[in-house]
Amino acid sequence: MEKNQIIELEITDLSYEAMGVAHYEGMTVFVNNALPGETVEAKILKVKKSFAFAKIEQIIKESPDRVNIKLNQWVQTGLASLAHVKYDKQLEFKRNQVVNLLQKAHLDDVKVGETLPSPEQTGYRNKAQVPVREVKGQLEIGFFRKHSHDLVPLTNFFTTDPEIDRVLVAVRDILRQYHVPAYDEIHNQGEIRYLDIRRSKATGEIMVILVCLHKDFPQLPKVAEAIKQIDGVTSLVLNYNPKKTNVILGKVDYLIFGKPQITDQIGDVKFKISPESFFQINSLQTPRLYDLAIKKADLQPDDIVIDAYSGIGTIGLSVAKHVKSVRGIESVSDAVKDANNNAKLNGINNAKYVAGKAEEVMSRWAAKGMKADVIFVDPPRKGLTSEFIEAAVKTGPKKIVYISCNPATMIRDLQEFMNEGYTFSQIDPVDMFPQTPHVEAVTVLERTRK
Ligand code: SAH
Repeated sequence: MEKNQIIELEITDLSYEAMGVAHYEGMTVFVNNALPGETVEAKILKVKKSFAFAKIEQIIKESPDRVNIKLNQWVQTGLASLAHVKYDKQLEFKRNQVVNLLQKAHLDDVKVGETLPSPEQTGYRNKAQVPVREVKGQLEIGFFRKHSHDLVPLTNFFTTDPEIDRVLVAVRDILRQYHVPAYDEIHNQGEIRYLDIRRSKATGEIMVILVCLHKDFPQLPKVAEAIKQIDGVTSLVLNYNPKKTNVILGKVDYLIFGKPQITDQIGDVKFKISPESFFQINSLQTPRLYDLAIKKADLQPDDIVIDAYSGIGTIGLSVAKHVKSVRGIESVSDAVKDANNNAKLNGINNAKYVAGKAEEVMSRWAAKGMKADVIFVDPPRKGLTSEFIEAAVKTGPKKIVYISCNPATMIRDLQEFMNEGYTFSQIDPVDMFPQTPHVEAVTVLERTRK
């Protein structure tokens, strides 16, 4: 097999990254955009030892699960790489990811629920982080083509709140008007690296963050004045990121005008969110995810609850009024401040959040003999560490509710809890990210030993 070769392939599977999978002369071929059940004429793009990447030249036999969307760019970029699949099949794809991982781990008897569909399937994101680059001599916003840093210019981001798209385009036009240079990542020059915009559906507040190479640039006063005039914008922040890096945000924020946080709401709890703080991006699906997690926790009025990887305290503060106390851990210090302020904002006085690495703080608490009844964990993609798991078990919880954005690391961690005397019988996928292959899932571990 060689580059540029054109071959006919039968697609038999969908990879976890939503690439069509085919087998050809002992090689596995990943075909961008192709779906199981399809026969395609494909062009080989890259050949490795046992696998290759290809793109579709022509679909010979089309899957009935395919949606023929007009803007193929969404699928070509990492923005919405499942957008060519009918929604009910997307839900099935996500459930299958969990089923397959359980099978690999020899945990076939664990039940997997149907994926909980998202109330909105497009326009659901309350936040956009959009790269800014120069394309053909003009500043553009858009998204990177999959596995590359080629910017595909876009004005409709499909999964983002259309009100955010409106502001993105307005800011782009202001940057063009005042000739502010886009970031040039090859030479680490220019100015605007990303636009990061958050909007609350509950309050309508909008925060615009310009991610910049410098702390200041000559056109900033005029640009700020113009952004202030965009309908709905309540804050402008300059995030300073001088490094040659793929990490989007730098470490320092300067408030240029407006409120330092934006206010949002989940259920009847209000939250103020700082620029660096994590906040769930699917506003309508988040309360449904939390409701499911809270139901699994079966909380009692006397319970001592730990909210680990707490972000701004959204889970702990949602349950605080129904339990004895909540202790939270989060590594981003601004998010911890937000969490403690959010407790006050909602008249909650039995919840306290501390800054630190969950594994370290939990070990400290366990060593001091602290006891917990229920622990919520909601770690980033890499999951938990053995140090965290051991310490968590030492606090003696009867239940551990695990919310995960990466079922692979979740199932790895669940097995470690099983070795420590915990058991689980069901995992429920929740669709937080329609049109993308990302899978969110929830389960509860119960203590089997006294
Ligand atoms: N439970 C929250 C946040 C989940 S996202 C919510 O539902 O909104 C995961 C959070 O874990 C992020 O806020 C991230 O900053 C934090 N985090 C990442 N690594 C961590 C670590 N080692 N210790 C504590 N928190 C961590």
